[in-house]
Amino acid sequence: MSQSRRLGSCLLRRTRLSTAFAASFLLLAAFLVTAQQPEKTLVFSNVDVFDGSRMIRRTNVIVRDGMIRAVGVDVAIPNSAQVIDGEGKTLLPAFFDSHVHLGATNAEQFLKDALDFGVATELEMWGSELSLALRKKSASNDFADVADLRTAGTGITVPRGHPTQMGGPPIPTLAVGGDTQAFVDARIAEGADYIKIIYEHAFPTLTKQQLHDVIAAAHRRNKLAVVHVTTQSEARDAISAGADGLAHIFADSPSEPGFAELAAQHHVFVVPTLSVLEAVTTGPRSWWQGEEFSRYVTPSMQGSLDRKFPPGFGAKLRFDHAQAAVAALHRAGVPILAGTDAPAPGLAHGLSLHRELELLVNSGLRPAAALRAATSEPARAFGFHDRGRIGPGLRADLLLIKGDPTSDIRATRQIVGIWKQGVPHQRTRRND
Ligand SMILES: [Zn+2]
Repeated sequence: MSQSRRLGSCLLRRTRLSTAFAASFLLLAAFLVTAQQPEKTLVFSNVDVFDGSRMIRRTNVIVRDGMIRAVGVDVAIPNSAQVIDGEGKTLLPAFFDSHVHLGATNAEQFLKDALDFGVATELEMWGSELSLALRKKSASNDFADVADLRTAGTGITVPRGHPTQMGGPPIPTLAVGGDTQAFVDARIAEGADYIKIIYEHAFPTLTKQQLHDVIAAAHRRNKLAVVHVTTQSEARDAISAGADGLAHIFADSPSEPGFAELAAQHHVFVVPTLSVLEAVTTGPRSWWQGEEFSRYVTPSMQGSLDRKFPPGFGAKLRFDHAQAAVAALHRAGVPILAGTDAPAPGLAHGLSLHRELELLVNSGLRPAAALRAATSEPARAFGFHDRGRIGPGLRADLLLIKGDPTSDIRATRQIVGIWKQGVPHQRTRRND
């Protein structure tokens, strides 16, 4: 804008104006032509559909203008439609990852990695100013080729509490006697979609009263309160204090009788993040090295997958405690949400969600329940009414895979195509 002023002569300005006028006229003309044509329809035909709750065999799904318009065997298919043959394939809502971090450097790339593996919505459980800026950008539709983002922004912790030991720029902390409501309101003013609270006794942490007060302050503003816990007693405290959800499941002790029932009575959801607990307890795994999958693992993702937790970290944790707790919670009817904690060591955005699904199945969820944990359950828990299921009027954030993931969960890795708001997503292939 100021560039053209600085450039000078009246003549030049007039030429520019008339060029600009001609350009806008052409744009207008192009708009009028396209506006008269019906938007191209996309049809998935004879496809098995996991609709967010259950499988519907051999049906058709009609997509137009970024939305799912119809699902059924006898829906009308326009002659001009682009038809994708779904024979032997399953169409699913694109996944949620309900526990990620974007960090301060690769944030946008992480969101791209996520979509490359069929994760179209990432829920960040502690972020930075960069996440809040990306969150605003993701609210506009020019952010189509990366996953959608919601973030807790800066979470709630005390002076010297987790994660201040990890370094990074100074963050606001809540001291005993601080104004809890004002502190929570400041996070909401910064753009937090929900409130993430750190309750972790390996470091200085909130008192039980503070925990209760922070959750109440979030609820007063109609925000969910999700509490980071790593031990069973922290999990009990968080549930009793009114948490909406637990981030992580404990691996310090076997699930005590009554724990899962307590969680069920209080209607909490749990995002166990088995992937990161597996990485902590057993180190890096090569589960992702199958041909179909690994060709999309970029060098930066591989770097993250190869990273290890420091020696001795989590030495007292047992992965089977975490799995048994997930099984007990699921049996008690507690909603389980799939989340990974990517890019923690041993994990990568998008890709690790497929491992999380397998680990949920290994912990006793049926494959369909694991799929719900990455689709309709997070949509319900976090209040998304526009995604996480396949049905008329919902966003066409879709994942097409080979095979039947309700009989073998690892079929989710056989990705045929990914669409975000009806637009096909070009996956990044590794060059080798
Ligand atoms: Zn985390």
